Amino acid sequence: MSDYSTQQLMEKDKAHFTHPWTVFDVYKHEGALPIGRAEGCYIYDTDNNRYLDAVGGLWCNNIGTGREEMADAIAEQVRLMSYSSPFVDLTNVPATLLAEKLASLAPGDLDHVFYSCGGSTAVDTAFRLIHYYQNCRGKHDKKHIISRKSSYHGSTFAAMSIGGKAGDHPPEFDYLSDTIHHVSAPKFYGDSSGKTEAEFLDALIQELEDKIIELGGEDSVAAFFAEPILGAGGVIVPPQGYHQRTWELCQKYDILYVSDEVVTAFGRLGHWFASADEFNIQPDIITCAKGLTSGYQPLGATIYSDKIHQVISEEGHGRCFAHGFTYSGHPVACAAALKNIEIMERENLAGNVSELAPYFKERLESLLDLPIVGDVRGRGFMWCVEFVANKDNYELFPEELDIGKRISNLADGKGLIVRPIVHLNVMSPPLNLTREDIDFIVDTLRSSIEEVVAELN
Ligand code: PLP
Repeated sequence: MSDYSTQQLMEKDKAHFTHPWTVFDVYKHEGALPIGRAEGCYIYDTDNNRYLDAVGGLWCNNIGTGREEMADAIAEQVRLMSYSSPFVDLTNVPATLLAEKLASLAPGDLDHVFYSCGGSTAVDTAFRLIHYYQNCRGKHDKKHIISRKSSYHGSTFAAMSIGGKAGDHPPEFDYLSDTIHHVSAPKFYGDSSGKTEAEFLDALIQELEDKIIELGGEDSVAAFFAEPILGAGGVIVPPQGYHQRTWELCQKYDILYVSDEVVTAFGRLGHWFASADEFNIQPDIITCAKGLTSGYQPLGATIYSDKIHQVISEEGHGRCFAHGFTYSGHPVACAAALKNIEIMERENLAGNVSELAPYFKERLESLLDLPIVGDVRGRGFMWCVEFVANKDNYELFPEELDIGKRISNLADGKGLIVRPIVHLNVMSPPLNLTREDIDFIVDTLRSSIEEVVAELN
């Protein structure tokens, strides 16, 4: 696997590799575990210890790793043509066919695709497309963006500014703030206002409308960004009717609705896209990545409506859409996406999610009898367990206790990877997971939580 020992690799890594979200003080001492290979739902470290990866890489490994047909499709495209420029008057076959396929899978008139290198650049592209569209319409003051606290939209300057996770905005970084605004996250669990869920929803809708009006209404607000289920912010499933009502407000004030489906698309919630099929809304723009290639190649797509396309491409203006990447529509990434979608269709992986989601939910909810499990929430194959010090008053554990990490570390030792986010453990496993895998996940989580409960007593 490698000429170096695990320890040697860890030392080299610490010396030279700055990881995403590195907490330097911790990383300097603990380092990162080298993963040497992966197969299906399993990953193996360089000492050959096996783990069930219930995070699916990083919410992206939808078809499972190491598939021969994916390797063949990628190798075949590399041999045929490893790269070709996508700029203006050249194209390539996989990019063309994938755009057609995405247009056929996306809801309504979302028929146009702009490719990028991942989710962040897909969001950044949406952001720039919104400016371009509004300027083309002569609406030069219509530039304000509204998104939600606790949302995550990526890590470019614009995407990170649109995101609203407090922990992702440390003071050492700067953010774009004059045209980006955040309203409350739709998280009912832990709300201390004493409202019913219906009243909580009414308050969220009122807050959004108040914000739109405060910013100048229809003349000033350009777009609303929303993940169908907030992922990295803690698998927040909004109250029933939230998406419909926020979408209606966007219609009322001529605001573009951007559904960030980087996590929720390609079967994660049992559909190709969740906004229309799970939440019954018709966005103007969908951003996607991750499950588009199941992580076999980096690729993002911004899929946008005919309505937008007609405006930006109107004849006679001589306009240039001056935006793009060397790797937009990369032929190898697009070939991987086409094969990935073909596999998902053939194996009906979205159907497996719909079939097993109730079992996953029921098994995870069985953990609610443990004294520190406050909430279990999610849909499809996207779940989290929230830990609390006191279930009666939603008292959280002190951050320094690092409760989520403490539990996930124990789970690691038993061969299970879940993702700790402060006081949560998050899961988004490959879509071909079995009942036995679900049993292993829940049983391992239970014994890890029980150990922590015993330590805390
Ligand atoms: N949008 C959402 C909803 C995400 O969850 C993520 C990543 O987790 C992104 C955008 C950014 O995607 P990437 O990391 O591929 O740039």
